[in-house]
Amino acid sequence: MTRSLLVILSSPSGGGKTTICRELLRRHPDYLYSVSATTRPPRPNERNGVDYIFLGEDEFQKKIEAGELVEFSKVYNHHYGTLKGTVNENLEQGRITLFDLDYNGAANLKESYSQAVTIFLTPPSLEVLKKRLISRGTDSPEVLEGRFREALKEVNLWSNYDYVVTNDELDSVVAKIEAIIVAESCKVVPETKPKLLKELERS
Ligand code: ADP
Ligand code: 5GP
Repeated sequence: MTRSLLVILSSPSGGGKTTICRELLRRHPDYLYSVSATTRPPRPNERNGVDYIFLGEDEFQKKIEAGELVEFSKVYNHHYGTLKGTVNENLEQGRITLFDLDYNGAANLKESYSQAVTIFLTPPSLEVLKKRLISRGTDSPEVLEGRFREALKEVNLWSNYDYVVTNDELDSVVAKIEAIIVAESCKVVPETKPKLLKELERS
């Protein structure tokens, strides 16, 4: 049986989570993506229900009170949260689900689900991180400065993840993550008990 996995990508802002998730989804149409809820306003080209579920502060609070979020945190003054329904439905389908979460989200999901695998993407250098944040062109200079300072704090948390991958060349990063997914899906856990053994036990 295939082991379903919750594959969580974390990095400082500009670390490449969106780019790498998109590339993995393009190459693996069978992978799913967990669309988070957020109170952040949409960026140009972001679509409601595809990139995020964009909610007002009140609507987000209602989801917290109704217990609909498996985890949530505040990042750069906006709320972000993972929908419990999405995670459970995806697990039932026995597929690979990708997540783009901050450090707290990764830690909380790991605590709640044995199927969670956490991967920290680190930019190759300070210079490249700065260039990528600026080239994305989505943030004002003040927001950029905040994201950059926060990025340096986040990199310090790298050793709490299951894996660390340097985001240098896209094809090689994607290949490493694919390798992690293959290895994790073969890990010795009750779900991967060989079919042959189950047959023998029944006979
Ligand atoms: P995040 O989602 O972690 O904030 P993004 O995926 O938006 O980061 O990446 C930030 C910027 O860096 C984007 O302009 C993206 O095109 C660029 N980028 C990300 N990964 C790479 C890479 N491996 N090579 C070159 N550019 C990259
Ligand atoms: P952005 O505004 O750049 O899309 O995301 C900002 C940060 O919020 C990123 O670090 C991203 O990983 C994180 N994030 C996005 N969705 C969630 C979520 O559902 N939960 C948590 N904890 N963090 C999230």
